Amino acid sequence: MTIQWFPGHMAKARRQVTEKLKLVDIVIELVDARIPLSSRNPMIEEIIGQKPRLVLLNKADMADPVKTDQWITYFEEQGIKALAVNAQGGKGLHSIVQSAKDILKEKFDRMKSRGMRPRAIRAMIVGIPNVGKSTLINRLAKKNIAKTGNTPGVTKAQQWIKVGKELELLDTPGILWPKFEDERVGYKLALTGAIKDTILNLQDIALFGLKFLETHYPDRLKERYSLDEIPEEVLAKFDAVGKKRGCLMAGGEVNYDKTSEVIIRDIRNVQLGPMTFDMIEELESDDI
Ligand code: GDP
Repeated sequence: MTIQWFPGHMAKARRQVTEKLKLVDIVIELVDARIPLSSRNPMIEEIIGQKPRLVLLNKADMADPVKTDQWITYFEEQGIKALAVNAQGGKGLHSIVQSAKDILKEKFDRMKSRGMRPRAIRAMIVGIPNVGKSTLINRLAKKNIAKTGNTPGVTKAQQWIKVGKELELLDTPGILWPKFEDERVGYKLALTGAIKDTILNLQDIALFGLKFLETHYPDRLKERYSLDEIPEEVLAKFDAVGKKRGCLMAGGEVNYDKTSEVIIRDIRNVQLGPMTFDMIEELESDDI
């Protein structure tokens, strides 16, 4: 589902996350491993403040594994622990509890030394729409949903999901908005399915995808569309792909909208192999 973010929505989303923050020890921030920066909320640091955080690069199965490792190092250089996971298939999820324990070790040791009874770590998941929050919660929940709600007088009862004995997760995630003002970010969000392609111009998204492929994965582009060479001129690129894929109008001319749809769908469905669209190198040029 695509949510149109208006200032009122953003303020409400922010308020909801801020309220829940008080209940938890740690925030689990989900990002899309294909776009670890473009899929982050622009105000995440400000919203989360000093709260300890674990970043999960989800959908790692669709991302370039070499780049995913680079992004994990990038986050770690910022002092943020990051893990690559696949919420759908379950890969990497077993490390979440241990990582949360490591991050909170000092706090929990302190609580223990003050004579407090040991308790499970409390966590909440936050992230932009479609990043995999519900998939992750369902996957972690299995049959362990602990109903703590329905207490008379408690209007906003929260439900906690037990993940083993040592972690409790709020059952509703915090939904945050992506950053829209930069069109490159918009294209990347569209190509990964985070936002509907109707928000942006279809052909612009496809062109961005084509140029990206040409620059970073030219061999895959050639192979997918059986091209000997990638034409230089923009229309010629569309013509080449459109002809190969039979996206033609009645008169035999290439239908650019249809060709754009094919390109976007192929990229989203990982038909050109796992790929990462945010590049560490781009950070230096401030150009993500
Ligand atoms: P939410 O809006 O953040 O709750 O996102 P959802 O949990 O609804 O997931 C959005 C889409 O991404 C769904 O189609 C999921 O099946 C898919 N998805 C979630 N996690 C993964 C993953 O790790 N790998 C892949 N390939 N797909 C995933």
